Amino acid sequence: MIILNNISKTYGKSENSFIALNHIDLSVPDMSTIAIIGKSGSGKSTLMHIMSGLDRPTSGKVLIDRKDIFALKAKDIDTFRSTKMSFIFQAFFVEANQTCYQNIALPLEIASVPITKRKKRIQEALIAVGLEEKSNELAANLSGGQKQRLAIARAIVNKPKLLFADEPTGNLDSVTGEKIMTLLFGLNKKIGCTLILVTHDSDLAKRCDKQVVLKDGEIELISSKKRRTKVA
Ligand code: ADP
Ligand code: MG
Repeated sequence: MIILNNISKTYGKSENSFIALNHIDLSVPDMSTIAIIGKSGSGKSTLMHIMSGLDRPTSGKVLIDRKDIFALKAKDIDTFRSTKMSFIFQAFFVEANQTCYQNIALPLEIASVPITKRKKRIQEALIAVGLEEKSNELAANLSGGQKQRLAIARAIVNKPKLLFADEPTGNLDSVTGEKIMTLLFGLNKKIGCTLILVTHDSDLAKRCDKQVVLKDGEIELISSKKRRTKVA
């Protein structure tokens, strides 16, 4: 469970300061899907960065599994991040001159996963995103959709509890984008990771359990998907 407690973030100093987030309270249950939506500049990425410990709030607390993450030492925040969370961004940051296999191996190295365990995990991640044939291909030779799938494979290889995705389909055509989202929602079900999705696509947001609408750094609305009851 992630709990944001009265989070504010101000960029800059005195007359040049800008309030990017203003007193945000939010909770994200384990294994749920949540969409953060709002116009460009509304604070979505800032909120995601603070939720994940990438960026510090000016005030307020972030509790993950009851742990105040910013009370941890910087090194411990890094360890927490490398073992519990993963990130997928709009610009698929893959290493172009490395193979798919090498790209996916990286988070396992960072998290010090024993070498004997790496190969199987990498294979599973490749299969999960349908890139098993491309293991030895250089990332540079992949299409946009394939690069994003590679970025996802790299993000899930350490079986994160929390998967953060900031506009993951922003650079993709709608058909490829749909495939990527089906993959991400499928992973939420399959490996039980919490999915925190930043998007400005409201249709996509509606597929999440909870939607948070940000406006000028404040929460304008929180809505939850109605639970559907099965009709026999
Ligand atoms: P979104 O992701 O919704 O487009 P951001 O969280 O990136 O919005 O940014 C929110 C606001 O904070 C924007 O007005 C942006 O210009 C400002 N901002 C973001 N990062 C910085 C920064 N490092 N320094 C100053 N202002 C920033
Ligand atoms: Mg953004």
